[in-house]
Amino acid sequence: MKTLKDAVQVVSFDVEGTIVTTDFSYAIWFEMIPQRYARRYNLDFDEATRRIRKEYDGVGDQRLEWYDVQYWFTRFDLGRADIAMEELQNRVNYYTDTKDVLEKLGKRYKLSVASGSPRPFLKHLLRDIEHNFSSVFSSTSDFKKVKTADFYREICSRLGVEAGQIVHIGDNMQFDFLEPASVGIQAFHLDREGKSKNPAALHSLTQLADLLDGC
Ligand SMILES: [Mg+2]
Repeated sequence: MKTLKDAVQVVSFDVEGTIVTTDFSYAIWFEMIPQRYARRYNLDFDEATRRIRKEYDGVGDQRLEWYDVQYWFTRFDLGRADIAMEELQNRVNYYTDTKDVLEKLGKRYKLSVASGSPRPFLKHLLRDIEHNFSSVFSSTSDFKKVKTADFYREICSRLGVEAGQIVHIGDNMQFDFLEPASVGIQAFHLDREGKSKNPAALHSLTQLADLLDGC
């Protein structure tokens, strides 16, 4: 009988909330930008945060500018985002199972990244683990879209594999489970906190490694 392990060639990972915590992004949006904004416009931190949140909400996450740090730095006159982001490199935290699982699965499969984070974020988020991946796709930077079915179709074609030969895992029910599954990718919803109503959700990357390695 053909098992999951035999069919799979590529294991694809979401990034934030899946292999890396959201600490780095949080520090940028809700610590560094308000701090700099407060200094620039002579406000206290809470007032700066209140104004910035209002500006973020005014643009909203359906527009690509929302994801673009330099857009906000320019809009608020805060200088260069890339230099500021470098200062927060020490806020990048991997989940405890990340490095082991990448190493283990990397021996048997091609590993790939399918992220909604823009490349300026991925540069920092993947710095210590990038050597594990043979390809990195950013839906917002490379395709100007969120992670839709089309994005996943495009990934299959660029990797030169059938959808059924890819396993994808990520923490967003829509973008990492429903969308990839709709094109035939074997998708797994990662629910690290045990909150999902999806009975098939996995709770760690180790569980995925066991499924792919142990079957
Ligand atoms: Mg995620």
